[in-house]
Amino acid sequence: METPLILVTNDDGIQAPGIELLANALDDCGEVWVYAPDRQQSAVGHGVSLHRPLRVGQYRERWFMVDGTPTDCVMLAVRDLLPRRPALVVSGINPGANLGDDVTYSGTVAGAFEGMLQGAPALAVSDVSYVPKHMQTAGRVATMLARRLLEEGLPPDTTLNVNVPDLPYEDLQGVAFTRMGRRHYEDDIITRQDPRGGYYYWIGGVPSHVEEDGTDFAAIEAGKVSITPLQRDLTNHHALETLTGQELAL
Ligand code: MN
Repeated sequence: METPLILVTNDDGIQAPGIELLANALDDCGEVWVYAPDRQQSAVGHGVSLHRPLRVGQYRERWFMVDGTPTDCVMLAVRDLLPRRPALVVSGINPGANLGDDVTYSGTVAGAFEGMLQGAPALAVSDVSYVPKHMQTAGRVATMLARRLLEEGLPPDTTLNVNVPDLPYEDLQGVAFTRMGRRHYEDDIITRQDPRGGYYYWIGGVPSHVEEDGTDFAAIEAGKVSITPLQRDLTNHHALETLTGQELAL
């Protein structure tokens, strides 16, 4: 049987420690190829560069950097540059959680989501700490999940969003399949004055979240690995049904 090709990407740039750790962790599972942004691209979401050309440079054997977004990387790799189709696309390991509503901002999740759109089973992996002390734990979780996905695949049109507590592997409290929770975005805009009196704004702060059972947030608070299956179809089917019953005259 042909060795499965595993495409690895991230949003933190090719020099980030998380992608090195992830590529090493997946080395036993298949033939790892890396296509990653050449610089920090966190929070670019599912952006794609349509208005400028993209350049690809070799970083080392089977490692390539692209002057674009995670989505650009996966699109170029799968559609054109890889020697064969990937059996799996893995994005990460991101330092910092991708939980709840933050998922749509996330370049890490978008890299995996694009893998799904290109027809491959895909997962995004984040260590919930911005300053991880135990990223090896997320690496081991990624290896376990990659093996599973390579054997069993995923339901079609599904991306797994995986968040891992920043704990020693032995201290994990298990795995929970979860739904997306909700963020509160408050007091997030910092307003300051520049040396010439003009105002500038900085989006930041530490967002909180709604406490609800069954969510990704709840799993992480309980010390569990959170696995949220994300779906391709963003349609609110309940709203669609309700709306379809209504008359709307033009
Ligand atoms: Mn990032």
